[in-house]
Amino acid sequence: MTTHAYRNLKLCTKDCLCLFVCPTGATNNETGQIDFSKCIGCGACAKACPSRAITMIPNTMPKIQPKSKEMVDELFKIADNKIKEIQILKGLLNTVSPEETKLIKALIHSNQVIIEDLMRESEFMIPESPKSHGLLVRLSKNPEIKNIADKLLEKIEVNE
Ligand code: SF4
Ligand code: SF4
Repeated sequence: MTTHAYRNLKLCTKDCLCLFVCPTGATNNETGQIDFSKCIGCGACAKACPSRAITMIPNTMPKIQPKSKEMVDELFKIADNKIKEIQILKGLLNTVSPEETKLIKALIHSNQVIIEDLMRESEFMIPESPKSHGLLVRLSKNPEIKNIADKLLEKIEVNE
C-alpha cells in the first residue's frame, strides 16, 4: 500500500529531525504540513520523529463500508436520547451550585462528544460522503439555512 506522511502539528515539538532525514524536502514546507506532492512515502520522518507527530497514511483511503438502515436508525435513536439528556441537563444549569454546574457542563460536553461519534458512525461526519451530501441537499430546502447549505454544497464534492 502506498502511503504518505502526515504531521500532527499539535504534537510537533519543532526539533526538525524530520527535516534532516527527508530525502525530498517534503517535510520542509511553509505551511508546517508535509508537502504531499513531494513525499515518496519512505517513512524516514515518522521513524525519526521523537514526538510521534508523524503518521504514515494511505494515499487512497478505503471505501466507506455501507451501513444497514436498521443500524443507522438505532444510532439515531441513541443520538436522540442523548439530545434529550442535554436538554434536561441544560434545564438544570440555573438551579444548582457552582460545583454542580461544573459537573453538569462536563456531562453536556460528554453527551455532545457521544453524539458526534454516533453521527460519524452513521456516516454524516464525513463531509464528502454521499450521505452528508444528501443531508445538505435536504437542508438547502430550509430557507433559514439555505445559504449555508448551498455554500457547503458548492465547496464539497461527493467522493465515495
Ligand atoms: S521530527 Fe517530529 S517533532 Fe520534530 S519537527 Fe519533525 S514532526 Fe516535529
Ligand atoms: S515519508 Fe519520506 S519522503 Fe515523505 S516526508 Fe517523510 S521522509 Fe520525506
